Amino acid sequence: MVILISDAFDDKLPKRLERFGEVTDDPARLAEADVVLVRSKTKCTKEWIDSAPNLKLIIRGGVGLDNIDLGYAKEKGIAVHNTASASAIAVAEMAFALMVAVPTRLVEAHQSMKEGRWAKKEMKRTELYGKTLGLIGAGNIGTELARRAAAFGMTVIAFDPIITSHEIAELVPFDELLARADFISLHVPLTEKTRGMIDSESIAKMKDGVVVVNTARGQCVVEEDMAAALESGKVRAYATDVWYSDPPEPTSPILSAPNVIMTPHIGASTKENMGRIGDVVVELLEDFTKRTA
Ligand code: NAD
Repeated sequence: MVILISDAFDDKLPKRLERFGEVTDDPARLAEADVVLVRSKTKCTKEWIDSAPNLKLIIRGGVGLDNIDLGYAKEKGIAVHNTASASAIAVAEMAFALMVAVPTRLVEAHQSMKEGRWAKKEMKRTELYGKTLGLIGAGNIGTELARRAAAFGMTVIAFDPIITSHEIAELVPFDELLARADFISLHVPLTEKTRGMIDSESIAKMKDGVVVVNTARGQCVVEEDMAAALESGKVRAYATDVWYSDPPEPTSPILSAPNVIMTPHIGASTKENMGRIGDVVVELLEDFTKRTA
């Protein structure tokens, strides 16, 4: 069995996978591969799948499957698995860090010190305590964030049309969430329903001075509408780890809008998470070899 590691995984993973077959990271060997490991960089399009005639299993280290043509993979009899909950802690910590950076004014305060300014008088802060966090999507990552927010004394509400109860969040309709939340954090997969769900229409229904955090997918937010809301002050800050493309086009209006805190899609990139993803990959290969033995 040939296992192609197509994107960046834990350094120790190739050694751990040797017992299942020949492990390579040479993309030129795609045509021979039985199993391919991808993260978000490799785009498993129709053409890509057609150039892998031996392929039986794609393992996506991470959650979102929007880089894989799932319909075509199914048609070709190729199984696709992600490593579902492995990344939840890493991404929730990232979302929490982005959220807490706004009221603490962490980035501005740091920058002022770097510039040699002592801005103690101007740097008035606010708190997370007592504020309402609205989660859009309350699955694995949303739930980990809810736990952290509750520990900070926040009230947590969530819009998630697929679940019927939640251990922490009060489930509310979308418009109610927009109207009540001081902080809104996105934790949905990219689908036809979630693409562009934060646009001028939904932003207009939010509280003035709301903070929006995005560790889900850049395309869930209409960038031009968000930039306009930041310019007008309707949205106090947009803290995002995710982009329309990785990296963003230099023309992205988010790059030049005011009150943006941005990171280069590093939500899942913790050392600990890479180890957890590796553990799930090993389990999936154990199952796969048993089933195909
Ligand atoms: P999950 O499947 O556990 O949870 C997603 C939740 O979204 C589910 O509860 C689902 O019911 C809900 N949902 C689906 N459609 C919805 C809609 N239209 N409106 C509201 N809720 C909806 O997934 P997760 O592990 O929590 O991950 C969420 C997303 O985070 C992933 O799909 C991925 O896009 C993103 N992600 C980003 C990073 C990063 O590095 N920033 C890393 C991992 C995942």
